[in-house]
Amino acid sequence: MIAYYNGEFMPKKAVQISPDDRGFLLGDGLYEVMRSYNGYLFKAHEHIARMEKSLKELRIPDPFNGDLKAIGEKLIHRNRLQDTDATLYIQVTRGAAPRQHAFPGEDVSPTAYAAASAFQPPVSKREKGVKVVLEPDIRWGRCDIKSIALLPNVLACQRAKDQQAEEAVLVRDGFITEGSHTNFGAIFSNQFYTYPDTNSILAGITRQVVLELCNNLGIGVNESPIPVDRLKEADELLVTGSTLEIFPVVQVDDWKVGTGMPGPITRKLQKEYTKYRKVY
Ligand code: PLP
Repeated sequence: MIAYYNGEFMPKKAVQISPDDRGFLLGDGLYEVMRSYNGYLFKAHEHIARMEKSLKELRIPDPFNGDLKAIGEKLIHRNRLQDTDATLYIQVTRGAAPRQHAFPGEDVSPTAYAAASAFQPPVSKREKGVKVVLEPDIRWGRCDIKSIALLPNVLACQRAKDQQAEEAVLVRDGFITEGSHTNFGAIFSNQFYTYPDTNSILAGITRQVVLELCNNLGIGVNESPIPVDRLKEADELLVTGSTLEIFPVVQVDDWKVGTGMPGPITRKLQKEYTKYRKVY
């Protein structure tokens, strides 16, 4: 596999990251994940804008200088992924320097890494729906930044896997925020509810597309926190993300959502999402 590392394309095996890298030592960095459909990077502009915004917030100089889309496309081609489903992973850290909490000097440049891999779409889960479990949201106050420091997400997701569930849905102060690696949505009386775009969630690119689809389809949208106490009253639940797209949620902990089958609005959104991504 050919990867991108600090300005060069090279075999992934040849990438050598320093043990002094602040990503390794301190989790001091961020990442992005994009989907590629037959060589086309879906919503590349939006993913790149989110990454640039986070780089600014973290005061890490942008190592790509506007080249990230071209780098991604090159990785897709060099790895012969232009006729298949693939993902593009990008990570930037503050660079390698002797360990200390404060930023290193300006002579230290960021570490930039990107790789494209073939991807097997989770067709059966999209079709049948998935189980989720509720977990406390113990993350930091800047969940809008796609930080590589993912320990609370990792632990929550593992607790889900331990219970044969696909995702952990996080609860903060009595409200659902989002999943460990997805955004969360609910349908109450034909209206789509999802947590507002604040510091408490990652503003998912897929979430944004779903909001747009709801508007196109005349489905009312309500960006307001969903009380965990009201979850059982929901007609349909779903989670969204760039790789999984839209998963119907058919079970939460030990209870079934609605009929226990994917609901009609989720089905409609899935269908429209497939059409949408072929056009945009
Ligand atoms: N929320 C969290 C915490 C995530 O990690 C992700 C994706 O990794 C998402 C939401 C979904 O974001 P997107 O739709 O941009 O993939």
